[in-house]
Amino acid sequence: MDSKTGFWIRRPGDDDREGDIDTARLINGVLPFVRDTRNILLVRPSLASVAKEDTEAFLASLSYALQRGSQLLFQVEEQELSVTRIGDGDEHRILFWEAAEGGSGVWSRLIEDQAAVGQVATESLKLCHFDPETGNDVAEEEKCSRACYRCLLSYTNQPDHRLLNRFLVRDFLNQLRQAVTTRQTTGRSYEDHYQWLRERIDPNSNLEAQFLETLFTFRRRLPDRTQFRPEAGVYAEADFYYDRDDLRGVAVFVDGPHHDAPAQSEADQRERKKLEDLGYRVIVIRYDRPLADQVSEKADVFGPGLSRA
Ligand SMILES: [Zn+2]
Repeated sequence: MDSKTGFWIRRPGDDDREGDIDTARLINGVLPFVRDTRNILLVRPSLASVAKEDTEAFLASLSYALQRGSQLLFQVEEQELSVTRIGDGDEHRILFWEAAEGGSGVWSRLIEDQAAVGQVATESLKLCHFDPETGNDVAEEEKCSRACYRCLLSYTNQPDHRLLNRFLVRDFLNQLRQAVTTRQTTGRSYEDHYQWLRERIDPNSNLEAQFLETLFTFRRRLPDRTQFRPEAGVYAEADFYYDRDDLRGVAVFVDGPHHDAPAQSEADQRERKKLEDLGYRVIVIRYDRPLADQVSEKADVFGPGLSRA
């Protein structure tokens, strides 16, 4: 690069170079680069049931199976979802990214819909010529042994063709069909967070424990905290509380029979109304109706969960 003009200068010896280069003004070793922002999804599959010598082939096959499964499920073009493998050994990961500028919204759908990962797995199985219900190979005779252009192979993944084998991912995808997406709170696993909450509920309220257990059993979204008073000036302590991005949170009150007493009921309504006026969402769970029904009715807060435990 010419330090005076900022222009790239042709290399000495290039045929069509014009004029002489003032080598005293040359800057060498300039590395052009661009910055870009993409939505990425980092997948670290459990390799517990994969033979060590199959690891690379497994990850390669899985990356294209999930990439294609997602494309089919979310109806996006092949080039909109890209995939590569990064890391080594135990640090092996599959990295997906939305190639479309600004993203196509696939990751948010994958995260917000608890059943979406399972649906991707179902699409991936079908595409790999497996019956998703039985796991049976339904490829036409002699049409596809390990991989073909109708399943895992494409012109863009040619360097990986020798690795691709649909049979390596069949069991994994079959298990993934049952997947339910849960949110990790402050670094705790779903199970650990459940235990953490259990230790923080009102020990005198059996109903709170039952409510929490209902959420857990059906893999619904767990609250972020318990026994939380959102506003110092409002005399309402939520039994459970969900944080919301950019919004006041959701206060859940689990009401046993003593909340039906007229004075208590009146105070509850007054204070909870104040929370609502301030922008909080208030949900009251009652003792005299099935908990599972009440939770299902508020799937936008508690998540769709599993249809059965
Ligand atoms: Zn095939």
